[in-house]
Amino acid sequence: MKNKICELLEKNRQNTKNGSLPTYIPELIKTDPEILGIYISKLNGEEFGCGNYKHKFTMQSISKVITLMLALEDNGEKFVFSKVGMEPTGDSFNSMMKLEIVTPSKPFNPMINAGAIAVTSMIKGISSKEKWDRILDFLRKITCNPNLDINKSVYISEKSTGDKNRALAYFLKDVGIIVGDAEDQLNVYFMQCSIEVDCCDIARIASFIANNGIIPSSGEKLVSKKNAIIAKTFMLTCGMYDGSGEFAINAGIPAKSGVGGGIMAVVPNNLGIGVIGPALDIKGNSIAGVKLLSDISKEFDLSIF
Ligand code: GLN
Repeated sequence: MKNKICELLEKNRQNTKNGSLPTYIPELIKTDPEILGIYISKLNGEEFGCGNYKHKFTMQSISKVITLMLALEDNGEKFVFSKVGMEPTGDSFNSMMKLEIVTPSKPFNPMINAGAIAVTSMIKGISSKEKWDRILDFLRKITCNPNLDINKSVYISEKSTGDKNRALAYFLKDVGIIVGDAEDQLNVYFMQCSIEVDCCDIARIASFIANNGIIPSSGEKLVSKKNAIIAKTFMLTCGMYDGSGEFAINAGIPAKSGVGGGIMAVVPNNLGIGVIGPALDIKGNSIAGVKLLSDISKEFDLSIF
């Protein structure tokens, strides 16, 4: 499997040239757009990487899956879905359009920015510091990486330019979807997006989800099967934003992208995949990463359909 995946990666390297880096978070344009790496973490413990899999990048929207699982564990399904919907939007990840035109005003799903900001606000903690500590601890456990932390420059860069997200948060506060200090809730969201990882960390989160909320290496259960299934389902229907349908046709596996160029993909009961390819398509998904995952899925017949 390793040799074939490394071969497919090299074949897809040329696709990095067709994408571009996100300019709205200035710090992210300092990356080499031609990077492409992948790491596989199987449930039987076998792991390997190809290409630039050691490259460090920020989780960005991949973190939305983690906060969703934590918010579901903290509050239960009923409460979470009283504030965030279950439907894809077909719009870009930071769109505000549907918040105003659909009544009652409620983000369509937890994978778009509005939904993710709302989800983060539901995580339990008496202060934003406690919420943040809980998110980081949860991730450090899942990845078996006690050194996981934020990339401060990316965090400051996003916080100082994140006015679209600020607008979303204040709107959500106005309609009662988030309570408390909007700036504090946003701060936790910006921090979770700036967590620095490599492909191995992402592959291990994916294998944890593929294993329905149980850390494969230790057998420790952190998330209920039901909540892990919810996470996988949202990844499939909304994880690649307005590219989710096409990705489901071509790759057929639950996946979540981030504007840092990462993609986390889950092959249920089998393996987790972490990909990095910072050059993005117009929908904000790694252009070479998407193609590489589609090729791998076809080669190894991984589609869940
Ligand atoms: N931090 C980014 C934002 O809020 C995350 C978006 C993404 O990765 N698609 O805009």
